[in-house]
Amino acid sequence: MYNASSTRYDKMTYNRTGRSGLLLPAISLGLWHNFGGIDNFENGRAMVRRAFDLGITHFDLSNNYGPPAGSAEETFGQILKKDLAAYRDELIISSKAGYYMWPGPYGEWGSKKYLVSSLDQSLQRMGLDYVDIYYHHRPDPNTPLEETMSALDLLVRQGKALYVGISNYSAEDTRKASQILRQLGTPCLIHQPNYSMLSRWIEGGLQDVLDEEGIGSIVFSPLEKGILTDRYLNGIAADSRAAGPSVFLSEKELTDDVLGKVRKLNDLAAARGQKMSQLALSWVLRGGRVTSALIGASKVSQIEDAVASLNAPELSAEELEQIEAILPG
Ligand code: NDP
Repeated sequence: MYNASSTRYDKMTYNRTGRSGLLLPAISLGLWHNFGGIDNFENGRAMVRRAFDLGITHFDLSNNYGPPAGSAEETFGQILKKDLAAYRDELIISSKAGYYMWPGPYGEWGSKKYLVSSLDQSLQRMGLDYVDIYYHHRPDPNTPLEETMSALDLLVRQGKALYVGISNYSAEDTRKASQILRQLGTPCLIHQPNYSMLSRWIEGGLQDVLDEEGIGSIVFSPLEKGILTDRYLNGIAADSRAAGPSVFLSEKELTDDVLGKVRKLNDLAAARGQKMSQLALSWVLRGGRVTSALIGASKVSQIEDAVASLNAPELSAEELEQIEAILPG
């Protein structure tokens, strides 16, 4: 029997999501890796419990997380049923559709047919009546944006989602999507892009659009899938993502050049009394422009590291300059 910690709201920072009423934790947990049917259920369960005990109220899923696709939502549904059912109103649960999910013309991209069917499936896998946030996962060049946005609006009106968001959309498409959604009466709550010390594309226009449109941002892979941690500084640990079955991080990405930069950043982190992973989180959250850093984890201790990063002092102008000098231009 799980009873959530009575101190769970004492340490976490909650940030307002754009110009909405919704507060999100500065650290959110994503279930892309380590929660699939191939993974150890009790480990995933322990991570979700510990996260919630530390004030992480937001759990991010997608139709296709696993493997196999769909199984992360099933795992999360089991954890909800066993441990978190009494806390549903304290949780922000998201899901998405956009990538390949089932065969035939209606199993991926951005049609209304796909988005509506996929959310019904996700709700069933998780045993939920509604998700808090539903995303279009990637832009679809062949479906009119009006159709995709009207599918999101429809799902809110049906009560199957409370808020909607978009992921991986360019600055230009974000502005268009936001305008369409506002006209429909369902404002775009949030954008979910990749952002880390090694991947800074959102600084080139998207962040300005988000500010102007009043949209929040939850940035995925802020540790660059584990590269911005101490994981790979002394070879490839056997239990790391790069050594495992995931096709999303290969040894090829761990070049001497990248690891050389991470080593320098790691020294800078140590000088601040932080781990490499904690510096990477302090950096994406610097200045308050990002609503939440969306991490992944393979063990409970990694979630503890992430939440502890919030106790660190703000990065000084001098530290930011030193980081700039290390990072790729
Ligand atoms: P991160 O960049 O946070 O990488 C997480 C990985 O880093 C962990 O699995 C672990 O890898 C390693 N790690 C984490 N903390 C530590 C630590 N303290 N010390 C050492 N290593 C650590 O994020 P993810 O790539 O996992 O993505 C996070 C979430 O973002 C996903 O779950 C998903 O919700 C979302 N996402 C969304 C996408 C989209 O298109 N919208 C695309 C990708 C992700 P290891 O296994 O080696 O221990």
